[in-house]
Amino acid sequence: MKEFDYVIIGGGCAGLSLAYELEIHKKLNDKTLAIIEPRSEYKKDKTWSFWRVTPHNFDDCVKKNWKNFSINIPGKTNYLECKNFPYQSIDSGKFYEKINNKLKENKNISFFKDITEINKKNSFIFNSVPEIKKSHLNLWQHFCGVEIETKNNFFDEEIFNLMDFDCEQRESVHFFYTLPFSKNKALVETTWLSKINDSSQKDYDKQIKEYIEKHLKIKNYNITYKEEGAIPLFYPLYKKEKNKINIGTAGGMTRLSTGYTFLNIQEHSKYIRENIENISNSKKFEISKKYQFLDDIFLRVLSKHPEKMSGIFFNMFNTSPRTVIKFLSNKSNFLEDLNIILKMPKWTFIKALFY
Ligand SMILES: Cc1cc2nc3c(=O)[nH]c(=O)nc-3n(C[C@H](O)[C@H](O)[C@H](O)COP(=O)(O)OP(=O)(O)OC[C@H]3O[C@@H](n4cnc5c(N)ncnc54)[C@H](O)[C@@H]3O)c2cc1C
Repeated sequence: MKEFDYVIIGGGCAGLSLAYELEIHKKLNDKTLAIIEPRSEYKKDKTWSFWRVTPHNFDDCVKKNWKNFSINIPGKTNYLECKNFPYQSIDSGKFYEKINNKLKENKNISFFKDITEINKKNSFIFNSVPEIKKSHLNLWQHFCGVEIETKNNFFDEEIFNLMDFDCEQRESVHFFYTLPFSKNKALVETTWLSKINDSSQKDYDKQIKEYIEKHLKIKNYNITYKEEGAIPLFYPLYKKEKNKINIGTAGGMTRLSTGYTFLNIQEHSKYIRENIENISNSKKFEISKKYQFLDDIFLRVLSKHPEKMSGIFFNMFNTSPRTVIKFLSNKSNFLEDLNIILKMPKWTFIKALFY
């Protein structure tokens, strides 16, 4: 069986981002790489969105940029600006196509469906398949979104809605998220932050239909695309092994309070590329301990007081949007952190330290 210098397990967002980063920086000119990916074909399956707080390789896969957004709770709406850090949506279909076309040009890169097809004994492994221990206590961000096309122009394409809490909460945390790609096209997503074993929240189609027809009051529309997923709001198991590191969700690249992962994956890929010559001895790349600590408290509050969360999120955005965006994108300084922390209900958060 063939041997490779590097093996990437999982050719999804993290696996392909890393392969692309290595390829465009010519790190695979005299090294071989095997990518293990079981899917039979690549097609659009996700819409990755985030505030662009740092440059990345995929501006040409961006479906749309927004400089304004809103957040609402029943009876109140906050309109905010994000000129300095536009919110971007990446079309995963374009992302897969761009990367695969580039990787095909290099004979040193090969794709396999299963790890048993190669000899990995002497390879350095980048693994993006998470090992998740099932626990009824774990929190997930689970969601379903549909892209719709309306008969008449309906949306204001200049402003997206980050969180609309004006919907049933079912003793949990629930909001809708709307990304208007044009005046008559938008992604409308129902999102829950909860324990995933609660299947009573999974009537996604009904929730979305009611929101579109009764809340947004759109009657004539077609569904053109659908996506569904669940992001773990806890870190998957990570065994320290020589010659192997985890990447992507498996590598702890999800910001646990928000589910945002895409840009962290890009930063991790860059870090690996910069250290590839000495990767076995490089320090583990992780989301700063400061955010790990703050997110842990935040999720304890969320677990204990789901009814308070819509108000907490809404209040958080009562400060400068630049500060909140930096905080949620792991780029805030001490004063900005303090600004956010002071917006939180103090006793609820202090008590959460002792749950
Ligand atoms: C529907 C959806 C929407 C999301 N939207 C956003 C967003 O807007 N913003 C954001 O920041 N994050 C978002 N995320 C979170 C995160 O960015 C994505 O989950 C991202 O795809 C994670 O990348 P990954 O490489 O870790 O996992 P994946 O992209 O899922 O890649 C893992 C790959 O491993 C392959 N695989 C599975 N089993 C094996 C095996 N045994 N051997 C080899 N390969 C295997 C899979 O086929 C897959 O291709 C979203 C997640 C989902 C599910």
